[in-house]
Amino acid sequence: MDLNQYRMNWNYPTSIRVGAGRIVELPAACRTLGMSAPLLVTDPGLAALPLIDRALLQCRDDGLKTELFAAIKGNPTGQNVMDGVAAFKAGGHDGVIAFGGGSALDAGKAIALMVGQSRPLWDFEDVGDNAGRVDVTGMAPVVAVPTTAGTGSEVGRASVITDEAEHVKRIIFHPRMLPALVILDPQLCLGLPAKITAATGMDALSHSLEAYCSPLFHPMAEGIALEGMRLVQQYLPRAVAKGSDVEARLHMLVASSMGATAFQRGLGAMHALAHPLGALYDAHHGLLNAVLMPYVLQANQSGIGPQMERLARYLNLAKPGFAGVLDWVLQLRSEIGIPHSLSEIGIDDTRIDQVGLMAEADPSAGTNPVGFSASEYSQLFGRALRGQL
Ligand SMILES: [Zn+2]
Repeated sequence: MDLNQYRMNWNYPTSIRVGAGRIVELPAACRTLGMSAPLLVTDPGLAALPLIDRALLQCRDDGLKTELFAAIKGNPTGQNVMDGVAAFKAGGHDGVIAFGGGSALDAGKAIALMVGQSRPLWDFEDVGDNAGRVDVTGMAPVVAVPTTAGTGSEVGRASVITDEAEHVKRIIFHPRMLPALVILDPQLCLGLPAKITAATGMDALSHSLEAYCSPLFHPMAEGIALEGMRLVQQYLPRAVAKGSDVEARLHMLVASSMGATAFQRGLGAMHALAHPLGALYDAHHGLLNAVLMPYVLQANQSGIGPQMERLARYLNLAKPGFAGVLDWVLQLRSEIGIPHSLSEIGIDDTRIDQVGLMAEADPSAGTNPVGFSASEYSQLFGRALRGQL
């Protein structure tokens, strides 16, 4: 297998350098964006690994005054972001390297936004035209380097940040939060455990699948979602079964970026439920979507018939239409070791009414193909809890 065939520079939806080993271009990427003193934002787990040491050394050897900021949670909080802003200012930094999984990417992008603002973070929540409040001149440039294939936050224009005081996840949005440069290097993903590979990969699938089912008119996003799902179908089982499969890892990174590109068309009930459950139970975002996926498909069945017909044909599934897609999702989930019910991942029914209300109010609910009430969301959550498909 010749991995060089995949070595590409793409400029859609932003500048993307794809290929094995391309992390060596990190210092050059920083300079391209005019940085001389980047702040490398990552999470504490990664900060302890040699790959972060190597990236820091590379940048410093190149003469870039680079410091590390790793004080962020798995679900990054508003406080984490403001601590990062303080570190950015104290170190005299002029750009951000957002390096890691979704938490590090989201935190890094939010820090780069907030270093130039005088208003508090929650003033930029994705509600109404809050994005218009952003002072773009103060924003710092971002190089994004994903080490998991799932969130696709490297090509997203938003960050999901937890408001600890209110126990909710808020989406902070501005079009300029799209990182100006992305490095997709599958070698950074090789050490990822199978469980995280599976959960994050299913997040990528949920992005493409929910975007594909969104009722908004956006054929470009629809096309990207379809091919993103095909890449997951072909490569996620391989990446889970053999973590060192560079080709599978590369295609999953691309599928992840495609999922996030597609969901400019909107998400749906999987994310409307995963957001409150992540905030209330601190559960893994990708795992929540993976468990929720078949229950949401089932609940949406009346609104997605023609879409499922086309998807089943495109993926060349054994059975046509909705039944074929549902069977495929269930089979994929069990093949890669995703639990069948939310109760198996430590979630209980004590806050079932609250979850329903929060899901109905979540921005992702607006583009679900079927409009659910809070009590319908609670019932859907209950079925996923008990494993009743
Ligand atoms: Zn997601």
